[in-house]
Amino acid sequence: MQRIRAGQSAPAARKAAFLDRDGVINLDRAYVHQWDEFEFVPGAVDAMRRLREAGYALIVVTNQSGLARGMYTEAQFQTLTARMCEALAAAGAQVEAVYHCPHHPKGKVPELAVDCDCRKPEPGMILRAVREHGLSLEQSFMVGDKPSDIEAARAAGLGRAYIVQSDNAESTDGLAGADAAYADLASCVDALLKSA
Ligand SMILES: [Mg+2]
Ligand SMILES: [Zn+2]
Repeated sequence: MQRIRAGQSAPAARKAAFLDRDGVINLDRAYVHQWDEFEFVPGAVDAMRRLREAGYALIVVTNQSGLARGMYTEAQFQTLTARMCEALAAAGAQVEAVYHCPHHPKGKVPELAVDCDCRKPEPGMILRAVREHGLSLEQSFMVGDKPSDIEAARAAGLGRAYIVQSDNAESTDGLAGADAAYADLASCVDALLKSA
């Protein structure tokens, strides 16, 4: 455990962009688990590069109930994640961490068929990332395409939460409790960096 001595201040917490994956970074084709079905949302890669250049750590927080449902394996998920991160890094959009929830209470894989504290709208993934990466809740924000993404951000106490549209059935063109709604990540980042 790291101790802070009296008179010595803790290292400043960094700001982060918490991004949902499916419907925000890549097109939500339902249970995407292979690279050949993974397609970046137009403008998303460049938007992530711009966020990083503006000083935001990029943190992906993604519900992957397909794991609990037995539709794909942890190894397949990790392989896809590695390829996604490689492609993003090659474009100057290095992701600092990817957190995923493999659980679902109605899953088929016994050890993953649990009520957990990480499946959004629970805030577990966000809170864990904040702890493990020294991030500021107040200076950070979440971008998601479902009300549950916004609820997770609120439950964690993130400074701001934005909703974008996607093809997912749970996507909404309303605010869903968010601070603002945008067509996609690119237009969200346009607005954020313009007002910064
Ligand atoms: Mg999504
Ligand atoms: Zn979970």
